[in-house]
Amino acid sequence: MESYELVVVGGGSGMSVLSRGLNLGLKCALVEPDKFGGTCLNRGCIPSKILVYPADVIREAEHARKVGIKVRIEEIDWELIGKRMWSRINMNKRIENGLSKRKGLTVYRGFGEFSGEREMIVKDNDGKDLGTFKGEKFVIAVGGRSFIPPIRGLNEAGYITSESFFGDKFPKKPWKSLVIIGGGVIAVEFAHVFSAFGTEVTIVEMLPRLVSTEEPEISKFLEKNLKDNLTILTNNRADKVHVENNLKVLTVKNTKTGEEQEIKAEEILVATGRRSNTDTLKPEKTGVNVNERGWVITNEYLETSKENIWCVGDVNGLYQFRHKANYELRILKKNIFSDNEEKHMVDYSSVPWAIFTYPQIGHVGMTETEAIEKGYEILVGKHYYHEVAKGFAMGFEENEVDDGFVKLIVDKSYKILGAHIVGPFAAILVQQFVYLMNAGFTCDKAEDLDLDLDLIPKDIRACPEAGALTPINSSMIIHPSMNELTAWAIGSLKPVKIKK
Ligand SMILES: Cc1cc2nc3c(=O)[nH]c(=O)nc-3n(C[C@H](O)[C@H](O)[C@H](O)COP(=O)(O)OP(=O)(O)OC[C@H]3O[C@@H](n4cnc5c(N)ncnc54)[C@H](O)[C@@H]3O)c2cc1C
Repeated sequence: MESYELVVVGGGSGMSVLSRGLNLGLKCALVEPDKFGGTCLNRGCIPSKILVYPADVIREAEHARKVGIKVRIEEIDWELIGKRMWSRINMNKRIENGLSKRKGLTVYRGFGEFSGEREMIVKDNDGKDLGTFKGEKFVIAVGGRSFIPPIRGLNEAGYITSESFFGDKFPKKPWKSLVIIGGGVIAVEFAHVFSAFGTEVTIVEMLPRLVSTEEPEISKFLEKNLKDNLTILTNNRADKVHVENNLKVLTVKNTKTGEEQEIKAEEILVATGRRSNTDTLKPEKTGVNVNERGWVITNEYLETSKENIWCVGDVNGLYQFRHKANYELRILKKNIFSDNEEKHMVDYSSVPWAIFTYPQIGHVGMTETEAIEKGYEILVGKHYYHEVAKGFAMGFEENEVDDGFVKLIVDKSYKILGAHIVGPFAAILVQQFVYLMNAGFTCDKAEDLDLDLDLIPKDIRACPEAGALTPINSSMIIHPSMNELTAWAIGSLKPVKIKK
């Protein structure tokens, strides 16, 4: 039986560790049943953002009215938009081509399934055996896919997911009407895209609010802004589907009142969360433990319960973002390939993300509730777009529905615990907090932060490097720019839960 020094299972983010292994001259195998590049390249981050940007442009053009410019959208060139999107997805062929030239690499084009002690069998879609081999070291990076809830009649009526949308169900033109089941990140991105392209969109969400990972006031703000362009049914469960006159009819039930209503649409997008791909991998057969939802259990070194088998990316069930996988890969490469014994740990305390809906959302660290639940004494600051010169210049005015904000949460030593932004450039603006949250952690000297609020004795404030606000507080901030929005949030910090 063939044996490899390093086996990477899953050709998404996992390929970066494979590349290092090959550069080190190891005998490697890669197992991948689908397009190389994984979800992010083929059916996630990258193609979705190629659709989000034109949708942003449409909404920006509408917003321009507020600053005295009236723009008429003449045409949405769906063909060009689609062509640009497929040109990026098709980069997977270049990756495949590149892999075919790598010395020391065997590529298996099928599903890897553990079949015994560090042993794997590869099968095609029909279960046909494509080979069995052993591996000294394995990296599990098989990701996840859309979770499909049991809804009566859904299979018979047909539906799309993010996978089939960026595959054989990509529409020839935007649908006339679309129901989106789910109100999370993927749902609100698709809702923004298609509502901007003229589709009549309805979101059906079982929970009381959209994007429930976010601060409640951010969910509320998003809902108020999306409402002008689409229908949002929160507290509604998708119950059953049937087809009538070529339209899909979804019956939804209000979880509070029990009231039912029917929504007719040309297509149904199911975006109700993700499920693990370990059902095909069967990691338990080699002694790798998974949790009750099938996500692989890893420790802080990204090790699984089985020696010399590591796991990265979505399949560990934590923060399912490509940049989180990239971060884990940096740590993993040190742990797998380093000569010294010292192991490196992952730290998820400042995982950032953005939700590319309209308005955009940026998130890092804890929400206010999470911070309080964890026992922190906190101060919270909020700053609105209209309050900075650039925000007003861009048409944001007090008490208007689109006047977004930054919410900053710090502990009593002014160490940043979380930052949440909703409005233009949220993804860019939140990043400065991420950098600060990751700066330092080695210094043991407390210093004067020179903040106006003198609630906290200096000696118990955080050192200036460890996630403190000092670099913002002691910097000049380009005026008038959106940086003032985030920087000046410091000035609005007020105690929310501080013992005096
Ligand atoms: C619509 C959408 C939009 C997104 N937008 C963003 C975004 O804007 N920013 C962001 O950071 N993240 C985004 N994400 C998430 C991001 O795509 C994932 O976090 C990232 O792709 C995870 O990488 P991964 O390597 O863990 O898994 P994947 O990229 O999913 O790779 C796993 C690979 O394993 C293969 N595989 C599955 N089973 C087996 C098996 N048994 N044997 C061998 N191979 C197997 C799969 O075919 C796949 O190629 C988005 C996701 C979706 C769905």
